[in-house]
Amino acid sequence: MAFPRSDDAARRAEDAAALDLGPEARRALLDAMHEMVETYLAGLDVDSPSFVEAGPDEGALAVPEEALPLDRVTALLEREVLRPGGHAAAPGHLAYITGSGLFASAVADYVAAATNKFAGLEATGPGLARMERAVLRWAADLVGYPPGAGGYLASGGSLATFAAIVAARDAHRLGAADVPRAVIYTSSQAHHCVHKALHLAGLGEATLRPCDAPRDAGRTGSAGDGRLDPATVARAIADDRAAGRRPWLVVATAGTTDTGVVDPLEALADVAVDTGCWLHVDAAYGGAFLLTEHGRRVLRGIERADSLILDPHKGLFVPWGLGIVLTRDARALAAAHAGSGAYLQDAEEPDDVSGSLGGADSAASFSPADLSPELTKPFRALRLWLPLALAGVAPFRDALDEKLALARHAYDRLGAAGFTMGPVPDLSIVTFRWIPTGLRDGADDAAIEAANRRIHEALRHDGRIFLSSTRVDGRFTLRLCVLGFRTRRPSVDLAVRLLTDAVRS
Ligand SMILES: *Cc1c(COP(=O)(O)O)cnc(C)c1O
Repeated sequence: MAFPRSDDAARRAEDAAALDLGPEARRALLDAMHEMVETYLAGLDVDSPSFVEAGPDEGALAVPEEALPLDRVTALLEREVLRPGGHAAAPGHLAYITGSGLFASAVADYVAAATNKFAGLEATGPGLARMERAVLRWAADLVGYPPGAGGYLASGGSLATFAAIVAARDAHRLGAADVPRAVIYTSSQAHHCVHKALHLAGLGEATLRPCDAPRDAGRTGSAGDGRLDPATVARAIADDRAAGRRPWLVVATAGTTDTGVVDPLEALADVAVDTGCWLHVDAAYGGAFLLTEHGRRVLRGIERADSLILDPHKGLFVPWGLGIVLTRDARALAAAHAGSGAYLQDAEEPDDVSGSLGGADSAASFSPADLSPELTKPFRALRLWLPLALAGVAPFRDALDEKLALARHAYDRLGAAGFTMGPVPDLSIVTFRWIPTGLRDGADDAAIEAANRRIHEALRHDGRIFLSSTRVDGRFTLRLCVLGFRTRRPSVDLAVRLLTDAVRS
């Protein structure tokens, strides 16, 4: 293929014009997509499916060489993409950690993408960078972080964790030679993204020391607690130090993925300060509950963390694709993510970049790219800013209080129906198992597991309520997570009814 000749440009431009939609084509596309979305959203009610098995046609979505008509495109999307699998936006989706997808955020993504302003650098997107800082400052205030805090709007909790781990590594000057001696203290319930981030950060050979609270002998039969125990951490750190190892990082979880328990943050912060360790708090799931009075009580001490993450695409109802990392000192993120190139010389800021979210003079002086692994990235701030600007904070707080109340309602009702309940929910996750009469916990675990698998299968078959299962203390355990803004009392009552029906049959 020859390089196109210069007088080819006009002819090529005619063919390429299909990429540059005019006002009418834009309107037609928007109308078609809007109708498709409206049909989808209108179908989300208490009786709509929360999970649908995928059809057999693997090839239906192969990229076509020739353009498809619009109605063919929407039909394909509806049948092959929107319908199969889990429906996180549906009110009966109580599996994993639920998301729900604020419509205002979806529109924000549309605005951000259609205008395609560059969100990575202050110089090219000053308004975008300011909005990112405003959203981060809002999150930092929610946590109780000081003016010197800094942050990064990531794609989710996993990448946010990665940025935090790298910041912690560099703040403690862990070099390659230190890695085999480095020790991390966390509970067995820590999210696997922590392990992944350690590996990605070159710390895969460090020692991960699980320091769960000792089991309460009186509580056998109920699901385990799996909380990180400050006294156990303190003892392990002293032992490791005596053995010549290098205690470095304490990772607490504020709302574990499996059971929703919150580690004792205040006491863990004391241990971290006493031992000179970095404290990271994974509040991916639990962080949003800081909007509620109950959440603030349960998460007390989170403001003492050196770094933390929280996921607006979980408890703040934003569509998938937004996680926040914050460090109490912005310089930790900035030092870990510094970088530049000659091609950026026109966009470079002055040397006195503080990177903090603080006072008016310091706040305006860093670019998002200075505090994160990303340079080019989507304009994520708008997907949180727009729904907050349109609704105010109060509806978010009320929705989260409602989720807490509904989780407690599910806990009470399932307990009354004879299920063996896990711990009283710290937040909005409820764990439980059915132990059939005549079977003994511990002695008949295989038969108990089979019974609970059948219950899970029955709900899956019905489709309206989507629950997930896990293992707690090695035992097959059912769980439900109340977190979607569309999940109201009728869906929780339906879940309880389907579960009790499944037990009876
Ligand atoms: C969801 C979750 C994560 C991972 O976040 P992603 O946004 O899925 O990458 C980390 N920690 C906890 C406790 C979580 O619930």
